[in-house]
Amino acid sequence: MGAAADDRFSRQQRFAPFGAAGEARTRAATVAVVGLGGLGSWIADHLARAGVGTLRLIDRDLVEESNLPRQGLYGEADARAGRPKAEAAAERLAAIGGPTRLEPCVVELARKNVAELLGGADLVMDGLDHFAGRFLLNDWCRQQRVPWIYGGAVGGSGSVLRIEGEEGPCLRCLFPDAAGAVGGDTCDTVGVLSPLPALIAALQCSEALRFLAGDRRPARLWHLEPWEGRALALQPGAPSPECPVCARRSWPALEAAAESEEAKLCGRDTVQIAPAATAALDLERMAARWQGLGAVEQGRFLVRLRLDGVVVTLFRDGRALVQGTDSPARARALYERLIGR
Ligand SMILES: [Zn+2]
Repeated sequence: MGAAADDRFSRQQRFAPFGAAGEARTRAATVAVVGLGGLGSWIADHLARAGVGTLRLIDRDLVEESNLPRQGLYGEADARAGRPKAEAAAERLAAIGGPTRLEPCVVELARKNVAELLGGADLVMDGLDHFAGRFLLNDWCRQQRVPWIYGGAVGGSGSVLRIEGEEGPCLRCLFPDAAGAVGGDTCDTVGVLSPLPALIAALQCSEALRFLAGDRRPARLWHLEPWEGRALALQPGAPSPECPVCARRSWPALEAAAESEEAKLCGRDTVQIAPAATAALDLERMAARWQGLGAVEQGRFLVRLRLDGVVVTLFRDGRALVQGTDSPARARALYERLIGR
């Protein structure tokens, strides 16, 4: 490594508990960031700046204007163009420079692809905003003994926990059911101010760097309510004897019957269609097939068609976002007509 690279990372190397050994381990690590929204965009930014060796950037969504107040890495041009977050994030992180290898993945994490997406990761970062996805992360990471760092931020409060090893609890120990986890609140219903997810993401990254540096002291369960001026660092306790994962070594999210993905509402007027089987699509052929139906646009990760007031964005794995409708039936019909499977 040259003198310039030494200087770039000199401040983190000089922090004694991290030091040159932490630096070397961080440079050799592969970290998967799942979800690149309010948490994940800041997580990716911190970890790229810290010089993590490989960052896998996993997100299913497109940048929207309502993301801009609290999601780092994106700008109005990304929202106007409806770019995939993973693509826009990778471009922004590449501009920051440094040694990090970036692997943008424009996909939805699901049971069918979790092993492919997370395989080989030394650490998984939770940048998700829904518990179905977190339980999938939890179960796969527990089964494969890959450490992961939970982060949640909704309304006025946020939490962080590094989940690793048999002595500590998993996410299912803490939240036996998804609905009870946050009282059903989401950022869509109760809102959020931008400092909270940025704070939670930074705390997740602090835990990540501590882990990558080889510090194996027990994790704390962090709970922050900055608006109220409250901060707690709790002993997370032991695994629950009721937990299916920790007590019975079963993995509900991995064993669920065929995923009922199909059509679901995803935001205010966007429906996602995700076929259960994955077969790579030829986007160029699809773009050619759609010529004449409406305005067609093709990017590295997608092909897009505007017709009859809706925008259909199709990804290589067959997943599509239909913007401009809140009717899963209408979106499904459109999908069958345009993609035909
Ligand atoms: Zn558990």
